[in-house]
Amino acid sequence: MAQVKLPDGSVLEITDGTTAKQLAEQIGPALAKAAVAAKLNGQLVDLSTPVTADADVQIITLEDDEGLEIMRHSCAHIMAEAICSIWPDAKLVYGPTVEDGFYYDIDLDESIRPTDFERIEEKMREIINADKPFIRKEMTRTEALEKLAGDKYKTDNIKHTDSDIISFYSHGDGFEDLCRGPHLPSTGRVGSFKVMSVAGAYWHGDPTQKMLQRVYGTAWPTKKELDDYLRILEEAKKRDHRVLGKQLDLFSFNEAGPGFAFIHAKGMIVWNEIIDFLRNIHARYGYQEILTPVILNEELWHKSGHWDNYKENMYFTDVDGVGYAIKPMNCPGGCLVYKTRQHSYREFPMRVMEFGLVHRHEVSGVMHGLFRVRQFTQDDAHIYCTPDQIESEIIGVIEIVFEIYKAFGFEDFHIELSTKPQKHIGSDEIWDISTDALKNALAHEAIGYQVNEGDGAFYGPKIDFHVKDCLKRSWQLGTIQLDFSMPQRFGLVYTDKDNTEKTPVMIHRAVLGSFERFIGILIEHYGGNFPLWLSPQHARVLPISEKTNDYARTVHDKLKAARLRCDLDISDEKINAKIAKAHSEKLPYMLVVGPKEAQAHIVNVRMRGQEHNKAVEIDEFISIAKQKIVDKQMDLALPE
Ligand SMILES: [Zn+2]
Ligand SMILES: [Zn+2]
Repeated sequence: MAQVKLPDGSVLEITDGTTAKQLAEQIGPALAKAAVAAKLNGQLVDLSTPVTADADVQIITLEDDEGLEIMRHSCAHIMAEAICSIWPDAKLVYGPTVEDGFYYDIDLDESIRPTDFERIEEKMREIINADKPFIRKEMTRTEALEKLAGDKYKTDNIKHTDSDIISFYSHGDGFEDLCRGPHLPSTGRVGSFKVMSVAGAYWHGDPTQKMLQRVYGTAWPTKKELDDYLRILEEAKKRDHRVLGKQLDLFSFNEAGPGFAFIHAKGMIVWNEIIDFLRNIHARYGYQEILTPVILNEELWHKSGHWDNYKENMYFTDVDGVGYAIKPMNCPGGCLVYKTRQHSYREFPMRVMEFGLVHRHEVSGVMHGLFRVRQFTQDDAHIYCTPDQIESEIIGVIEIVFEIYKAFGFEDFHIELSTKPQKHIGSDEIWDISTDALKNALAHEAIGYQVNEGDGAFYGPKIDFHVKDCLKRSWQLGTIQLDFSMPQRFGLVYTDKDNTEKTPVMIHRAVLGSFERFIGILIEHYGGNFPLWLSPQHARVLPISEKTNDYARTVHDKLKAARLRCDLDISDEKINAKIAKAHSEKLPYMLVVGPKEAQAHIVNVRMRGQEHNKAVEIDEFISIAKQKIVDKQMDLALPE
């Protein structure tokens, strides 16, 4: 007999050799039906695995992320079989899951084209409908290497594992693949799937190796979930910030600097509006602002620990024959400012912010528009305080974070707390105090959060903030990181009440993270339709014909004098063409003026995305627009 502990804490007695599937049946028929795999003492296994000793067991279904991943991975095997049956020369390389799907790298001389996807899918459907069981077979490493002799890819895969027992999985008709598993009980358990795309990929990402074909697919428990996913992809494509960035003339990239963004004049307006907003709100929350150099002596980076832990992401240069590094983070520079004078507990908490320009090396394959760049500006800040101030400081940071996110129209948040990892510095006492402070601050704000046990940095616990955009995609933006290491490395001190010198607590925090990336997220979240306060341009005056050009100029001058960002279209185009052009530039307001408007001193306002106009007096329009900017309103609609 063995004792099995279930996730709800209950304990079941089972006879030795009971499989995970039989265990699920014992628990209940609904669970047995939904089960796709199991977790045995934290390790994912096939449902056919026997439970031979006392263990913690969790039955995994498609409701679990792990279950979904197992289904997607199983689907990769099915796609591999389909491809091999269509192209018998295809050699399989490696087929892992990725976010929302999976891929399989294939070595095949003939190109797989999008027009082939349908017949691959058809073959896959056949395999799924046949509902063949996935069967695991184990052998020793030596046996496996013998079995795979001549298959350089699979032999290489074995060499990359450290296990002595190597497993193969087959499903029905002789198709077998080297794999660690686990898999679905049978092919019929795959829900709705689709072959998505094919791209070239070098073996091990090494350009000296043969170019393989990477075929991507996705799989979901139901047809509805697949359809929703495809719809969101379609919508995301329309909102792609790289496309909109070009269309709206916001930024560009050039091969003169891969991964280094060029921000154009219109992009800089968005950028500067964000900066102004952040400066004001930080002043209100009691922050001071500093600016530290981009290039600093190599010695500093040895001292900070970046040399030992972050060197491969840094750029280096030399000045007068001495080694220098380009800063990947702003903290060491901040510490040097702290050290320029003495500090007393009376100054604490001391909140110091910096719009810091940092450079981090990314390999060329992973860059993606503004989302992943090699140079970016952080809305960084460091708070120096005493241990008993941690909690109230964290509360303050949480409040500023939410106030800022809401100003941009983000309402859906998710928070993760990462706690003490095995390898760490600092006493257990300081870890306990600060982890409790983080938890208490979250409780104080009545915010639910997820705990990632043991996932903190070695130098302190942290909180990460995630927001969901309008397509329900999650983005990690802000972070609060406690640091027990750097104040010591830099010998930072303050004089405490009892006149002794102590080491301050240092809190690193960023709200938006990287400006570049955040602007990319905003472009996609808004679909290029910026709210008025962020919009590169607020309005355009469109005279119906040459006859009203003078009146249009008067209107334009008035808007300019009121500091609204506007221009004037006195081109020879017909009014409909002028309107179409303004629409494509996603201008919030078009002010159409003809002889009637000139006589009545009014403007005909057409809002972005609307087909009809509304007549308003010029001064009234100006005051409405200015109020919307001040209030950071998302909605453009004029009052009825
Ligand atoms: Zn597998
Ligand atoms: Zn920092």
